[in-house]
Amino acid sequence: MSKIHLLDPRLANQIAAGEVVERPASVVKELVENSLDAGARRVDLEIEEGGVKLIRVRDDGAGIDKDDLPLALSRHATSKIAALEDLEAVASLGFRGEALASISSVSRLCLSTAVAGAETGWSARSEGRDMAAVVAPVAHPQGTTVEVRDLFFNTPARRKFLRTEKTEFNHLDEVVKRQALGRYDVGFSLRHNGRAVHSLKPAASQLEQERRLASVCGPAFMENALFLDRSAIGLRLWGWVALPSFSRSQADLQHFYVNGRYIRDRLVAHAVRQAYRDVLFHGRHPAFVLYLELDPASVDVNVHPTKHEVRFRDGRAVHDFIFRTLHKVLADVRPDTAPQAAS
Ligand code: ADP
Ligand code: MG
Repeated sequence: MSKIHLLDPRLANQIAAGEVVERPASVVKELVENSLDAGARRVDLEIEEGGVKLIRVRDDGAGIDKDDLPLALSRHATSKIAALEDLEAVASLGFRGEALASISSVSRLCLSTAVAGAETGWSARSEGRDMAAVVAPVAHPQGTTVEVRDLFFNTPARRKFLRTEKTEFNHLDEVVKRQALGRYDVGFSLRHNGRAVHSLKPAASQLEQERRLASVCGPAFMENALFLDRSAIGLRLWGWVALPSFSRSQADLQHFYVNGRYIRDRLVAHAVRQAYRDVLFHGRHPAFVLYLELDPASVDVNVHPTKHEVRFRDGRAVHDFIFRTLHKVLADVRPDTAPQAAS
């Protein structure tokens, strides 16, 4: 008798969900990325009980065609890439076609959407039980709303790993802040248990961007930050670095984006640390919000399902450029702002 069988699709999705859906914050990351990929100009989030009870993400993006709706919830279904070559210069945040399938397999998901000029909107519901979504007409302005209720209701082993409401919300808030700093041109709002946490208008000018930064990272960061913008050898680095005098006891105010994508990368971390080495006391951490822009073909984002890691084609050049740029900026700081412990 044969011992090998294909996994039931729902089980396969739940296993895959283990990679991308760790906690409410990961759901928010995936849903907001989808909104941004859909060209949203504003993204509104409504959260209940740290995201375990409800995560609602509403956008004014392109929406989804009725015929595409069941596919949107299927695994390995994406509108963002079609061939391997597309991966080499992928400009969208998503491309794996996994998030909605994974999330819907471990929650009660309802997606409502409407495309421009449509007579009606459509909703698709999937209760985590079977993958066949129920599609029905619904009133919805152009854009998409995804509601995720009762995360992990059918996977008790995963639910056990969730922390307190406050901890889960802090993780989730951190994700929203990262995304808000990744896209100044998009408005964001976040409400938790009916209370407004963030309300961020689109920020076009540098002044408006700095206002958003002050609101997200705290006014003290902004008061102690230097703006920089340097380009060389096909690389551009811009953003804000805190004066050494505004060092932190933890590495909790470090945002680095590669082509608009928030990443954590050892090579980048090393380059920044080296640049601050002579001006920071031992054990202190720099604060920064930096954006690296380069040809998408010279960076591989398909290293990990959460896409927090990247691989640079010429890591050495990237490292040296970041180090030299920051080193120069910090060396130009007046000596009367030399290291002092703060925070
Ligand atoms: P991926 O983002 O990797 O393509 P997802 O599972 O996150 O995979 O989404 C599947 C597809 O559903 C997307 O490719 C996109 O076409 C559509 N989609 C998801 N969310 C939205 C949204 N907020 N607005 C418009 N289309 C969306
Ligand atoms: Mg996605």
